[in-house]
Amino acid sequence: MIKEGVTNLKTIYDYTYAQLEEYAVQKGWKKYRAKQLFEWLYRKRIDDFSLMSDVSKEAIAILQAEFTIDPLKVISKQVSKDGTTKYLFELQDGSAIETVLMHFDYGKSVCVTSQVGCNMGCTFCASGLLKKQRDLTAGEMVAQIMYIQKELDPQEERVSNIVVMGTGEPFDNYDSVMNFCSIVNHDRGLAIGARHITISTSGLIEGIRKFALAHVQYNLAISLHAPNDELRSKLMPINKAYPLNQLMDAIRDYSVNNNRRITFEYILLKELNDTVECADQLSKLLHGMNAYVNLIPYNEVDENGYKTTDSLRAMKFYDALKKRGIAVTLRTKHGEDIDAACGQLRAKHEGRL
Ligand code: SAH
Ligand code: SF4
Repeated sequence: MIKEGVTNLKTIYDYTYAQLEEYAVQKGWKKYRAKQLFEWLYRKRIDDFSLMSDVSKEAIAILQAEFTIDPLKVISKQVSKDGTTKYLFELQDGSAIETVLMHFDYGKSVCVTSQVGCNMGCTFCASGLLKKQRDLTAGEMVAQIMYIQKELDPQEERVSNIVVMGTGEPFDNYDSVMNFCSIVNHDRGLAIGARHITISTSGLIEGIRKFALAHVQYNLAISLHAPNDELRSKLMPINKAYPLNQLMDAIRDYSVNNNRRITFEYILLKELNDTVECADQLSKLLHGMNAYVNLIPYNEVDENGYKTTDSLRAMKFYDALKKRGIAVTLRTKHGEDIDAACGQLRAKHEGRL
């Protein structure tokens, strides 16, 4: 649903540091205005340009006329027993997106949405129920982090990690996602370390190859979920366009050329991909790679009938991989009591679940 009559100014969060420098030069300002802006926006975290005491009134008036700062309105916020917090935000055009804050021993991690809906159509995923309406801009992703960071500020806490694992396929919105990462990573802003930022893809090969050539230090995670083409194509239609041999070639090239370890995400679906035979196939597929497998408990989505693997079977699968020399972790559930499944909250809001 698109709202009419809303002010639809571009958010200044859309701009990378280099783009702000370029913008400043175009306006006839000094380049260092980018530094001032980054500090006001991301260090002092202002919501109003008029607070920038070292910027001229004329420049402030121009910025106010051309940009908004915060493009999000919070619709609802749910806090689970383990502290996981799920935000449902409304964008300026009325679209709804969700963002999740998780608390770990090592810090606070935010799961960011990159598109309104998703076109990849994975059969187990609630996000796939809602077709992509549009890509998010870099600034709409930055704003998700900023909203949560501003909530953490009074407790003097900070967002330390980011995972691009909310609704959407990040490599179907490549440029904006990379700009987003560059903004939150920048030294003069939030300075979230590149190795604390993870992009998760369902396996768009062009994206993986582009990412490999960019030589950035963000982590790459691949949603694998099945060790053979037959099963993977059933779960993830994208596998028909990019079958496993091509996908694994692209990943191997990335890993070798960038000297990076890859995370493979693997949701455990009861009696489907959690058999010892699957563990065996998976270990062969990953043999010799600098990789580890992250086993994820499945959050059941009512509509599609897939079931979560119980913890005994999950441990068996874990052991079978370990025995075969694969590095593996078994993720614990977060925010189970608040519909933590990818896309569930938004789907509920739109009356789909
Ligand atoms: N589109 C990207 C990133 C968003 S999905 C991707 O697919 O990688 C982030 C992760 O959540 C993926 O690994 C995805 O497979 C997983 N996921 C989706 N639905 C889930 C569910 N119901 N329970 C557990 N994980 C789920
Ligand atoms: Fe899209 Fe990822 Fe969900 Fe697949 S798992 S439908 S790629 S969000």
